[in-house]
Amino acid sequence: MTSSMIGEIINAIGKDKVLTEKEELACYSYDCSTYKHEPELVVLAHSTADIVAVMKTAHKGKVPVVPRGSATNLCGATVPLKGGIVLDILSMNKIIEIDRENLTVTCQPGVITADLQNAVEKEGLFFPPDPQAMNMSTIGGNVAQDAGGPRGVKYGVMHNYVLGLETVLADGSVLRTGGKTTKDVSGYNLTQILVGSEGALGIFTEVTLKLIPKPEAKRTLVCAFDNLHDASRTVTKIIDHKIVPSMLELLDKTSVNLIQSYVDSGYPTDAAGVLLIEVDGSPSEVDKQIILVSELCKECNAREIKVAQTTEEADAIWVGRRSGFAALSAYKPTVVAEDAVVPRDRLPEMVAKIQEIADKYGMLLPTFGHAGDGNVHPHICFDPRDEKETAKVPFIKDEIYHAALSLGGSISGEHGIGIAKKHLVPLQHSELNLGIMRGIKAVFDPDNILNPGKAI
Ligand SMILES: Cc1cc2nc3c(=O)[nH]c(=O)nc-3n(C[C@H](O)[C@H](O)[C@H](O)COP(=O)(O)OP(=O)(O)OC[C@H]3O[C@@H](n4cnc5c(N)ncnc54)[C@H](O)[C@@H]3O)c2cc1C
Repeated sequence: MTSSMIGEIINAIGKDKVLTEKEELACYSYDCSTYKHEPELVVLAHSTADIVAVMKTAHKGKVPVVPRGSATNLCGATVPLKGGIVLDILSMNKIIEIDRENLTVTCQPGVITADLQNAVEKEGLFFPPDPQAMNMSTIGGNVAQDAGGPRGVKYGVMHNYVLGLETVLADGSVLRTGGKTTKDVSGYNLTQILVGSEGALGIFTEVTLKLIPKPEAKRTLVCAFDNLHDASRTVTKIIDHKIVPSMLELLDKTSVNLIQSYVDSGYPTDAAGVLLIEVDGSPSEVDKQIILVSELCKECNAREIKVAQTTEEADAIWVGRRSGFAALSAYKPTVVAEDAVVPRDRLPEMVAKIQEIADKYGMLLPTFGHAGDGNVHPHICFDPRDEKETAKVPFIKDEIYHAALSLGGSISGEHGIGIAKKHLVPLQHSELNLGIMRGIKAVFDPDNILNPGKAI
């Protein structure tokens, strides 16, 4: 970037919103992946007008721009691979309106996911998408990654809730798509094309989301199994009996033990596989589901079923699940969370394949995930100072995704592609599909300045 471009941005938005010091730039060189590259400039955007001004200068000078929320993504999506500008949107954190009659919330993109959930829950409403980093992640980042979480099994993920977007495009123009209506078939659905676009098609400056009424009651169970196969086949058994839990998570023995030693969550450490299950609805529905789910778990050889008796006990169980990534970090200095998804009925095969890969490479691959969605996160835990161990990582990773694809799955359920899985995309999508995606990118961003080098 030239100094005259930096001067133009400072003149347009003010010096206090622009960071140029080496130490400041270093803070924006990484995210929750293993990649690193420094930007040339960081802009702390406070408004749509700030972003428009930055994009006008970037467009003229063909300077790369990477929008960034809390940088909790796990795939290198906010690492400014080609330098240029990182656009920090964390200051754009206002909830603009909770509309009780239309069941919508409109907010700026930098609102923290959990803050939005708490605000709507105070009104008796519910915003289900619950990525496990929701105490840190932003709504803009969630939209751009099409994030999901344990509640995806019953309630779906971000794309099921995004109704409208205001988006600044690569040339600084402002696009409005969708709105507060839950139905809209007027032309191509541009809102949904933007969901999951990893900051490569535009920068969201306002988001309108669908809400639903908050379920009246919920209860949590922990079920212990002597083998992982029984735990994973229980998932389809429950769904096959027309019960869709609000959360249905699977953890293997290593994960259970690492989590228990990190935070006491009441998990049975001697089990080979554990299911964490939450059911919700009216109090009578919940009681019925608890009985049925317990019976189905027993039929699949669960040897211990514990129903949380208090809200505190239930909360501790889910805090444990949310602490999974941190708990694994206590085991090895580097943890790479993989994100494979298969059709739900192929889950037992996928779990078996992960175990085979772990045995083949002689490394533990602690695995947990949103089993109800067929979405598992095997974690590659390694010490980068150990050359032998580190050399195995790319092979393990590729074998995990080859296994998922061979079972009719996908290379990402929710974490996205970023830098980490770009080389795997052609294995899943044909040249025809990729050509259409490249065409869409070229329409939105003909000079390839928005988050270049990522996704496709
Ligand atoms: C411990 C842990 C657990 C996690 N668990 C889950 C999980 O259960 N489910 C899940 O889906 N993910 C999970 N993640 C990944 C991560 O939290 C999500 O991808 C989240 O959506 C990222 O939000 P963010 O604000 O951190 O976005 P960032 O990481 O800052 O950005 C992510 C992407 O969004 C783009 N972006 C950010 N803001 C905007 C904007 N305003 N306009 C356009 N593009 C933008 C960026 O350019 C980038 O491509 C987890 C991460 C961690 C560290």
